[in-house]
Amino acid sequence: MIKTDVLIIGAGPTGLFAVQQLGLIGLKAEVVDNLDKVGGQCSELYPDKPIYDIPGIPECTGESLTKNLMKQIKPFNTNFHLNERVEQIEKEGTQWKIKTNKKKTFISPNIIIAGGVGSFEPRKFPLKEAEKFEEKGVFYYVKEKKYFDKKKICIFGGGDSALDWAMELSNISKVVLVHRRTEFRATHKTVEAVKNLEKKGKIQIETPYQINSIEGDTKIKNITIKNENGKIKKIDTDCILGFFGLIMKLGPITEWGLNLDKKYIPVNAENFQTNKKGIFAIGDICTYPGKLKLILSGFHEGALAARECFKLARPNEKYRFEFTTTSKSIHKRLGLKDK
Ligand SMILES: Cc1cc2nc3c(=O)[nH]c(=O)nc-3n(C[C@H](O)[C@H](O)[C@H](O)COP(=O)(O)OP(=O)(O)OC[C@H]3O[C@@H](n4cnc5c(N)ncnc54)[C@H](O)[C@@H]3O)c2cc1C
Repeated sequence: MIKTDVLIIGAGPTGLFAVQQLGLIGLKAEVVDNLDKVGGQCSELYPDKPIYDIPGIPECTGESLTKNLMKQIKPFNTNFHLNERVEQIEKEGTQWKIKTNKKKTFISPNIIIAGGVGSFEPRKFPLKEAEKFEEKGVFYYVKEKKYFDKKKICIFGGGDSALDWAMELSNISKVVLVHRRTEFRATHKTVEAVKNLEKKGKIQIETPYQINSIEGDTKIKNITIKNENGKIKKIDTDCILGFFGLIMKLGPITEWGLNLDKKYIPVNAENFQTNKKGIFAIGDICTYPGKLKLILSGFHEGALAARECFKLARPNEKYRFEFTTTSKSIHKRLGLKDK
């Protein structure tokens, strides 16, 4: 059971900046995100694209913005719970009890939902057996490269992730790359590099094939793949990795009794509270008259929500407005020495 002042759902730019705004006023946050990395859409959808409308930064990429947001919250030593989805919330007295799909429980008077367009989830293998072996031979991301050392691996997919991992893992294991089309979608340079490795016998390529079956009892023994003409091939493998892209799902958020307007959560634009006391929504997921789905709006929304969180986290204290330039207590929280 993890106790905190605020539980933030979503480590996109909005959730990350909310950590900073909470930290400045002395509140501790824990952050949960379903992805394996922080940055939300900025990291997942456009890491290399330039952004031109972050106040005071004429140009930055999705990746560099995320890096700088992480640098800005370093003094607060925030815990991130990645690869984890918030599933359930329930009221317990004045607190909220929050449960994740990895059976972690948080207790907090405040929840800030910074869930963007919903949780990003990997597209999965369309086989029932794939569910049975998930995380025990069937994977949709590489958490620890070490796990795949000296194994027989079958990688499915035709985009950059599939090909990059095929190249990377071919250095430590035996890799078969399977794609349903003969053409790969990855960048020309990456496709060339993979084909070179095939020539050198370091990667085996099987196209146009799709998964047909997974066999094994407690562990995967082998799989079969099938092409459009019904031709079936058997491959001995220890594990399979699927890189079929991501889907975005509002998912469990719809089941928490919050008012919804299509895929968005209506909020009071004074403090970004939802219809439930202590639950706030900021960033792309919230809606109110005049809402702009921009990163800068999410930053403003997080700043105001943080001040309202203070009231519930410190009911016996009065919030005092202070500037970062001159406040000694803020400098202390930032680990700065006052001159
Ligand atoms: C191609 C592209 C270009 C863009 N360019 C610009 C631009 O130039 N300027 C600009 O201001 N904006 C731009 N945007 C929009 C901007 O990226 C979004 O406004 C911003 O990412 C919203 O941030 P967020 O933190 O609210 O949500 P997101 O970035 O979507 O992050 C939300 C996070 O919440 C997680 N999550 C959701 N539900 C759960 C759950 N139940 N449990 C755990 N985790 C969960 C998700 O996995 C995700 O990581 C662009 C968007 C795209 C797609």
